Amino acid sequence: MSIKNKTAVEISKMIKDRQISAVEVLEQTIQQIKEKDEKVKGFITVDEDEARKQAQIIQKGIEKGELTGPLAGVPIAIKDNIDTKGIKTTCASKILYNFVPTFDATAVKNLKEAGAIIVGKTNMDEFAMGSTSETSAFATTRNPWDLTKVPGGSSGGTCAVVASGQVSCGLGSDTGGSIRQPSSYCGVTGIKPTYGTVSRYGLIAYGSSLDQIGPVARNVADCATILETISSYDRFDSTSMKRDKYDFTSALDKDVKGMRIGIPKEYLEKGIDDEVKEAVLKAAQIMKDKGAKVEEFSLDLVDYAIPAYYIIACAEASSNLARFDGVKYGYRSKEYEGLHEMYKKSRSEGFGDEVKRRIMLGSFVLSSGYYDAYYLKALKVKRLIKEAYDKAFEKYDLILGPVAPTTAPTIGESLKDPLKMYLSDIYTISVNLAGLPAISLPCALDKNKMPIGVQFIANCFEENKMIAAGQTLEKELAENFVLDFSLV
Ligand code: GLN
Repeated sequence: MSIKNKTAVEISKMIKDRQISAVEVLEQTIQQIKEKDEKVKGFITVDEDEARKQAQIIQKGIEKGELTGPLAGVPIAIKDNIDTKGIKTTCASKILYNFVPTFDATAVKNLKEAGAIIVGKTNMDEFAMGSTSETSAFATTRNPWDLTKVPGGSSGGTCAVVASGQVSCGLGSDTGGSIRQPSSYCGVTGIKPTYGTVSRYGLIAYGSSLDQIGPVARNVADCATILETISSYDRFDSTSMKRDKYDFTSALDKDVKGMRIGIPKEYLEKGIDDEVKEAVLKAAQIMKDKGAKVEEFSLDLVDYAIPAYYIIACAEASSNLARFDGVKYGYRSKEYEGLHEMYKKSRSEGFGDEVKRRIMLGSFVLSSGYYDAYYLKALKVKRLIKEAYDKAFEKYDLILGPVAPTTAPTIGESLKDPLKMYLSDIYTISVNLAGLPAISLPCALDKNKMPIGVQFIANCFEENKMIAAGQTLEKELAENFVLDFSLV
């Protein structure tokens, strides 16, 4: 029995129905990786031996009836900034090239307890800083739809290995769009949950007040299932929220009748490709046909989201990355005189250009004399952005919009102009600044047959509304928009 083109939930069901064993599923997965990843370059590490051991154990657990959940036996890829016990976790940086965590991130622990099998760690922008996965110290991941294009970033590796059919699903992290944007570029589905829903324990921090781990998969149902599995209250993360219930799959049967959906008119006015705009309007029409009320509205402060985000994210990054000093773990320079020079050389040689740029920017905006003018002001803008969303959610259940202004750019294009790359985050970052959940899913193909995604943004803790809308859209599109997951 082949698992080709099967979703995570389908694979687990096949195992439970004895059509295939977890061990066979893993062997097929490893085979796919061997065939495809040389071209895609989505994985940094594949741990075949450990995965094989796990598959044996999990198969027994399923046979004994101990593992009954919807992810039991499913191989999953994990972004390389999420700690995995005994498996190298590099953040795609030379400074952590040999770092092997001694514990699992809580999200990974939850997946393992549900019987999922960690098959490998995926490429990303170094420390999740970037929008193309090109700032990785190790390799440039390719977009499976066109190998000359980027997969997006920073969770480009996870999205590319799902889109190329190497695995059915994976985890990414989203600080300013890093799950949604590469999902959009690669034609897969991704969710950024409400801040505090998935524990950040074991997620190597970039911008701690913005970071969230979330699922990437082939469809909305898998994403909802994975989100349900990885979310939990965690006392090891001081920003973890205790939610009433962690139920995201019941929303899959809900419809959008009577839902009020707003489209920020600023998002459709300037800087957006015509074909992306068309895709958003097409999604809006489908929602209308299904009984939702859709209208345009004005979302304040759109122009201020990028400067505020880059000040806050870089400020937090400059502090979070201070721990990489060549002493505690990772890379240490070979030659140095004295402690100070050891720090300096280890960091200069260990970090890439984009990370250095952000550490410098972050240190600058936090320095005395500039703190009030930049950092404090950015925090105030963040507050105002949250208030603008609060106001919008008084009127709407969901906000519908584009994920990125264009489809995936060609490899090399974005590195030439970092500012242009920052500007392409326009539709995703305010969601993180306001702590909101959002789902990105494929809606159309452009004239070059590259996927275009749209996103639904919900109010805090209202993931279920966006999951219902996403599921409705996906079902409608299924008839005329079939994704091919064996592209490479
Ligand atoms: N592109 C954004 C950045 O470079 C977002 C990255 C992310 O979400 N990790 O900061």
